[in-house]
Amino acid sequence: MLQTYHPLSSDVLVRDLNLGREPDGEVTANAIDVLGIDGRSTADLARARAISEAETPHLIAFLRDRLPGFQDAALGKYASAVYVRETRHFAGVDRLTATDVWNGQIPDDTIGLSSYPLDLHPVTAADKLAYAPIRHVYGIPFGTLVPRDLANLILASPAISATHIAAGSARVIPTTIEEGEAAGDAAALAAHEHVAFPAIARDSVAIAELRSTLRRDGAILSYRALPITVAAKEPAARG
Ligand SMILES: Cc1cc2nc3c(=O)[nH]c(=O)nc-3n(C[C@H](O)[C@H](O)[C@H](O)COP(=O)(O)OP(=O)(O)OC[C@H]3O[C@@H](n4cnc5c(N)ncnc54)[C@H](O)[C@@H]3O)c2cc1C
Repeated sequence: MLQTYHPLSSDVLVRDLNLGREPDGEVTANAIDVLGIDGRSTADLARARAISEAETPHLIAFLRDRLPGFQDAALGKYASAVYVRETRHFAGVDRLTATDVWNGQIPDDTIGLSSYPLDLHPVTAADKLAYAPIRHVYGIPFGTLVPRDLANLILASPAISATHIAAGSARVIPTTIEEGEAAGDAAALAAHEHVAFPAIARDSVAIAELRSTLRRDGAILSYRALPITVAAKEPAARG
C-alpha cells in the first residue's frame, strides 16, 4: 500500500508505518523518514521537525482513505522531539562490523547477545535496503564498549564502537540494557582492582571474571541454534 504514497516533500520517505496501539485507543506512528539530516545540527533538527509536521496531515489523509480502521483517524499530537536514529560512534578498542553480525560472531569477550536484524533507514534518497530482515545471533564484544584513547569512560549506548551498518542492529534497547549491565560490572571491577577499562579489555583473566559475574546474574553469553525439529513441532503442540 505504501508504494502508492507520494510524499509532499522530496526529503521524505515512508517505508513502513510502525504503528503502536496505546491503551486509550491512540495510535502512535513512527513512519516518516526525513532524508539528509545531520542529527548533530539544531538547524537540521528544526528543518526535520517542520518537514514532518507538514507531511503528517497528508499521510493521515492517505491512511484514512486506504487503511481499514483509519477512516476516522485524526491527528492527536506530534512527538515531543524528532527521533534521531544515529549520530556519533566512539572509536573503541574493538569495533563491531556488519560481517560480525551477519556471520553471528560470538567472540571470547562477549558481554551479551544481540539478534536484531540489520535495520537501516535511508540517509539519502539513493540509499537502498541492502540487508534482508534476518536475525543473526551475535555477541557484543567488551572492547566495543571501551573508547580507544580514554581510560575512564565506558559506553552502554547506541554510540558504542560499531560501523553504521552494524549499528543498524546493535542500537536497540535490549542490547543497550545488556551493555549497561556489563558496563556497571566492569566499573565495579575497575574500581576494585584499580585498573582502567582498556586494561580490562586486554586482560583475558579480567574478562573471564567480568563474564562470570554477568553469567551469575543471569546473562546469556553463548548460543547454539535449537534443532529445527523443535521449532517445526511447536505450532502443532500449541494446537
Ligand atoms: C526512530 C527510532 C526507532 C527506534 N525503535 C526501536 C525499537 O522499536 N526497539 C528498540 O529496542 N529500540 C529502538 N530504537 C533504539 C532505542 O531508542 C535506543 O536503543 C535507546 O533509546 C537507547 O537508550 P539510551 O539510554 O542509550 O539513549 P537515549 O534513549 O537516547 O537516552 C539518552 C538521554 O540522555 C539525554 N542527554 C543527552 N545529552 C545529555 C547531557 N549532556 N546531559 C544530560 N542528559 C543528556 C538525552 O536527552 C536522552 O534523554 C529506536 C530508535 C529510533 C531513533
